[in-house]
Amino acid sequence: MNQNLTTDRQTFVTHLECSITGERYEADQLHGLSRAGRPLLVRYDLDAVRSAVSRDTIEARPTDLWRWRELLPVRHTSNIVSLGEIETPLVPLTKSGGPNVLVKDEGRLPTGSFKARGLVMAVAMAKELGVTKIAMPTNGNAGAALAAYATRCGIETIVFCPDDTPEINVREIAMQGARVWRVNGLIDDCGAIVGKGAAEGRWFDFSTLKEPYRIEGKKTMGLELAAQFGWKLPDAIFYPTGGGTGLIGMWKAFDELETLGWIGSERPKMFAVQASGCAPIVRAFEAGEEHAERWEDASTVAAGIRVPKAVGDFLILRAVRESGGQALAVGDPAILKAVDAAAKQDGLLLCPEGGATLAAYHQALNTGLVDEDDKVVLFNCATGLKYPMPEAPQALDRTRPIDFDAL
Ligand SMILES: *Cc1c(COP(=O)(O)O)cnc(C)c1O
Repeated sequence: MNQNLTTDRQTFVTHLECSITGERYEADQLHGLSRAGRPLLVRYDLDAVRSAVSRDTIEARPTDLWRWRELLPVRHTSNIVSLGEIETPLVPLTKSGGPNVLVKDEGRLPTGSFKARGLVMAVAMAKELGVTKIAMPTNGNAGAALAAYATRCGIETIVFCPDDTPEINVREIAMQGARVWRVNGLIDDCGAIVGKGAAEGRWFDFSTLKEPYRIEGKKTMGLELAAQFGWKLPDAIFYPTGGGTGLIGMWKAFDELETLGWIGSERPKMFAVQASGCAPIVRAFEAGEEHAERWEDASTVAAGIRVPKAVGDFLILRAVRESGGQALAVGDPAILKAVDAAAKQDGLLLCPEGGATLAAYHQALNTGLVDEDDKVVLFNCATGLKYPMPEAPQALDRTRPIDFDAL
């Protein structure tokens, strides 16, 4: 265990708050959605945080997720269940992106995706609050992260995924100790099963944003970016948006950092990137709506962002609008072309959702939403190694003469 985690401590959480009505909820109790059916946001005593810790103190600590502990909800470090949550690197994508394009490569986190950030926090809080059984709908990566962390601390898990979820995800979920079921429907159909079981008291519902602590884990992406950019944020962030936890979390992080006086009031333009085969947020953004209707017949190669209906839709839309950014849709051919370009030209293997952000960046460049001088961060949210690749079938018979010129 890293030296950040050696002493037990109290945190600075004061209460939780309904994201739509502002209604107050007590800390240290188990909560799902608010009474209004919307996500709860965790609130901290930021004045006390400011007196307790400085930017310099944080920078002197090891560069992992737990260096931010004063801004995280876990009360007792003994409840932290860690698999080694590193700060992820910013990798330049000079050729397929441009001179000012950096990829935040989240594929290097435990279980190979940034779902680890959210689930490490949510599982620690579930443990702290005495939960023994958790169920979740997933398109793959969230289920894998849940299975890993919950198994590690002895919490039972049942995971439901659409029956066309990538095979590797279904198997890693099972391998890491969860009971996993393939369901003939989409993620919100799986969510309905989880909700029904939760209403019957069978398990705790871990659907995206239906428990309050995943956002806090995902918030660390925004905290890390601030530190990595020397406490000035980039000009634009392209985020592949399904449930939107990361975008909402980063936006919350920036506000908390500004209140602490650690960054100024400037914000990046936030671009919520979706696939044209499932773009409810883009449709709502363009129509000027506050909420997004369910997208029917959702389909895209980027499974992680195939989310027809997001419970935090209004939080995503609010952040994008306040930031002066946009919601952008890109087609599957553009996504696959971007994955190919990043791998072939820059040697960086992106997941399809990461490819979507690269495709959206070029779209934004062409339409003047950003320019080449803007410092841009693209999120690659999972390792490209989890996804199918084109075959490489060439073989060599070493017992025959070899045509070296043809190799
Ligand atoms: C879950 C997931 C997303 C979407 O993340 P949200 O924060 O839920 O919008 C994007 N890419 C990958 C690879 C994912 O697993």
